[in-house]
Amino acid sequence: MKPDQQRGGVVPLAARTSRLRSSAIGSVLRLAESPGIIALAAGSPARELFPNAAVQEVTDRLLRDDPDALQYGDTAGLAPLREWIATRSGTRLGTDPRPDHVTLTHGSQQALDLICKTLIDPGDVVVVDRPSYLGALQVFRLFEADVASIPLADDERLDALSTALRGGLRPRFLYVVPDFANPTGATLSLLQRRRLVELADRYGFFIVEDDPYGELRYDPYDRPGLPALASLSDRVLRLESFSKVLFPAARLGHVTAPAELAPVIGMFKQAADLGNSGFIERVVLELVTRPGFTDDLVQAARLLYAQRRDALVAGLRRYFGDKLDFAVPGGGFFVWARFPDATNADDLLTRALTHRVSYVPGTDFYAAAPDRATLRLSFSAVGPDQLTEAAHRLYLTWAERQDGVVR
Ligand code: PMP
Repeated sequence: MKPDQQRGGVVPLAARTSRLRSSAIGSVLRLAESPGIIALAAGSPARELFPNAAVQEVTDRLLRDDPDALQYGDTAGLAPLREWIATRSGTRLGTDPRPDHVTLTHGSQQALDLICKTLIDPGDVVVVDRPSYLGALQVFRLFEADVASIPLADDERLDALSTALRGGLRPRFLYVVPDFANPTGATLSLLQRRRLVELADRYGFFIVEDDPYGELRYDPYDRPGLPALASLSDRVLRLESFSKVLFPAARLGHVTAPAELAPVIGMFKQAADLGNSGFIERVVLELVTRPGFTDDLVQAARLLYAQRRDALVAGLRRYFGDKLDFAVPGGGFFVWARFPDATNADDLLTRALTHRVSYVPGTDFYAAAPDRATLRLSFSAVGPDQLTEAAHRLYLTWAERQDGVVR
């Protein structure tokens, strides 16, 4: 460091650091870890579903038999795993991606970063739903995007979006979680999907389809879901992740991009980290190609999470009655709720922690003009009895505020 950079004891930082907010996700995860707290804050998968024994078996075998298990690999990702992903997309989604249009990323979170590097200059417009995934908002802000939040899932005909586009809004891309969104649990209807790709075609923007929860569908879990946006248009960059169904410590996600973007994303990936862990990629490949392994895991996850969702929903209904509004999500990890009496969920959080229950206030999920009466409750990592207890604790927290008791 140059001596003149240390004047006054303050190290000058790059201008973009002024856009960093104290990490909302970081503080959420810390809350979740505090002892004695029933954590409805972090959206972590159920540890009961982690395939520890299978990972151990595969790891032992690879280390014994594969001389390249610990070697550098292809920076865009292990070729046979990209082939498996392309084939599975074909059978699951009816898309027909080429394996070289798939880039493996460090979680789907990194895919968001690489996409912004590829498409966003400062001031470019990115459209997001209102509310939207806070981890995505964080990335878009760092790239100095002009984030336009427009209701999508709540707007059956996407009138607000078409009006904005007709009025001259020109996004580089629109970011959306079409199935069981974080934080709302909402799913785009078929009509909304069709409208969205129509608008993308007419106004020439890309769609970033982030789909970590699509397979975690609970009502009914044995029927296919709605078509992926990627199956309706070739203007879609589709993100998926092994975090929710396999295990998040793999830090393995992927982006499937249109032909003109995939090589650029691949170059940014190379520059960022020379590729994911080839060892983890091999472990994941071995697991997912075992006959029936992924389908069994998805099936077990659907049953377990549906039970947890039902427990939280029943607890909230039992304790709050009509004092809390929420829709029952058909999948995913979250119940998105709102106090109809406009109780401020930011203010209530400290008191909730004294009652040993955590949640994420809705504020951080809004790019602008937050509705502070909203909150996100994750049911994924907590057992049914604890979820009932959490609903009770939340109610006590809220009721105490009503009585004006300060502790
Ligand atoms: N997108 C959405 C909508 C998410 O909910 C998450 C995880 N909370 C991610 C992306 C990032 O997941 P990962 O990096 O573990 O794949």
